[in-house]
Amino acid sequence: MDCLFCKIANGEIPSNKVYEDEKILAFRDIAPQADVHVLVIPKEHVASSANDINAENCEIVGYIFAKIPEIASLAGVDSYRVINNCGDKAGQTVKHIHFHILSGDNLSEKLV
Ligand code: AMP
Ligand code: ZN
Repeated sequence: MDCLFCKIANGEIPSNKVYEDEKILAFRDIAPQADVHVLVIPKEHVASSANDINAENCEIVGYIFAKIPEIASLAGVDSYRVINNCGDKAGQTVKHIHFHILSGDNLSEKLV
């Protein structure tokens, strides 16, 4: 599969890593939209988007959320927004499920 985030997960494409373990990788977004902008991905391509999450593969989502406080702390913040874009019309460009962690003063102009 020609998937950008699979290539980042396996090291084929370099990334600025914040956190890594056997299941997930967190790295800096290449085009940050906030002072802190980190992406969290499952290393395995378990789902292309949140639309593909089901009872069989949802464990990794809980795992990611259980790790997000630690990842945010490693990025130097304890106040942040978590965003998942699901589908083209929601702005999803990479079809490997991922969660954005955003933090910084410029979050005041916020969507939600
Ligand atoms: P989304 O639009 O929700 O699919 O998010 C994809 C994100 O991946 C965007 O915010 C991009 O800036 C980011 N991105 C694309 N290529 C890279 C890369 N090579 N390294 C880090 N982030 C990337
Ligand atoms: Zn992938």
